[in-house]
Amino acid sequence: MDTYKIIPLPDDENYRHWKLFDDTYVIHYGEALDIFLLLGTKKALLIDTAFGRGEFPNLVNRLKGDLELMVVNTHGHFDHTGGNMWFPKVYMHKNAMAYANVPFEPLDEAWLANMPYPDYEMISIDDGYVFDLGDRNVEVLWTPAHSDSSLTFLDHKRRLLFCGDEFDAGQANLNTFESVGAFLKNCKRLQKREAEYDFIMPNHNGCPISKEYLTDFITAAQHVVEGVPDLVPTHDLPGFMHPICGKNGVRAQVGNSCINYLPEAPR
Ligand SMILES: [Zn+2]
Repeated sequence: MDTYKIIPLPDDENYRHWKLFDDTYVIHYGEALDIFLLLGTKKALLIDTAFGRGEFPNLVNRLKGDLELMVVNTHGHFDHTGGNMWFPKVYMHKNAMAYANVPFEPLDEAWLANMPYPDYEMISIDDGYVFDLGDRNVEVLWTPAHSDSSLTFLDHKRRLLFCGDEFDAGQANLNTFESVGAFLKNCKRLQKREAEYDFIMPNHNGCPISKEYLTDFITAAQHVVEGVPDLVPTHDLPGFMHPICGKNGVRAQVGNSCINYLPEAPR
C-alpha cells in the first residue's frame, strides 16, 4: 500500500473518523466537514475528498485496506474536491468539471506540487449511474439546486442517502431564488423513494439525520415558491452569498429544516 509523503501546513486541522457500520466510515475534517468511505466486497467508494490536507491520502488508504478505490464528488465545490489530485481519476457530474479545481483561496505551491495527479482524469456520471462495490450498489441521482453539479447517492445496502450540501441539517444554501424551486422538486423526488433509505447523510453540520427532514424542507421551499416564506432573523448568518453577488441572503425555517436563499421573489 502506498504511503504518501505529506507536506504539513500551519493551518491544517485534525481528522477524526468513526465507523457507522463495519463497512462505512465517516471521515471528519476540522469543525464541520464530513466525507464518507463505503466498502464493498470488491471495491471502496470515497465520497468527496474534503480539502485533501494533512494525512488525508494515507488515512483513506489505511481504512480501505486492499480494496480498489473509486472516488466521486458530491459536487464541484472545493471543500469537496480539494483532495482530488491525490487520485488518478475522480467521478463527478459534468457540470463540476469547470470549477472542481478552483480553490476558495490561493493554495500553498509546495503542497500543491506534492499532489501526485495534478491532471487527474475527470469521469462524467449522471442520473442513473450505479457504482458496483461488490455486494453493495450505490445509485447516483442528479439533484442540482445548491450547485448545478450536485449528485446524491443512494446506498441500497446500508439504506443511506448521501446528499452533499443539498439537504443539510443546519442549512441548505441556495444561491438564487430559482434554485429554491429546483430544490423543492428534488426533495419531492427523494421523498417518493423514502422507503429505500433510513437516514440522510449531509457533509456539514452533522449526520446521519432523519429522513423526516425532507418533509420540513418541502414545506419551507413550497412556502418560498408561493411567496409566503417562513422567514427568521438572519443577523447571525455567515455571508455565504456575498462572494457571488454581493447581496444578503435570507433564511426560511420550518421545523428542523432551514434554507438560505436570495429573496428575488416573483414580482
Ligand atoms: Zn457546496
